[in-house]
Amino acid sequence: MDYKVICPHCREKFAMTLYHEDGDDQEFIYDCEVCCHPIAIQAHWDSAHHRFSLNVGRGEGYDEMPI
Ligand SMILES: [Zn+2]
Repeated sequence: MDYKVICPHCREKFAMTLYHEDGDDQEFIYDCEVCCHPIAIQAHWDSAHHRFSLNVGRGEGYDEMPI
């Protein structure tokens, strides 16, 4: 299923695909295609709605930049 994510660094929207087969809880770092900054994504399967709920944060190892 495709999910919309908004980059916390540059606010660009993009879609990513997650598979429930990979587990109820998933965590990964995705490099934004636009600004190349790391985005930390936590996905938790919401069994009531049959979709993942996402937490999106700034990846580690990056100096905070005012938006
Ligand atoms: Zn970005």
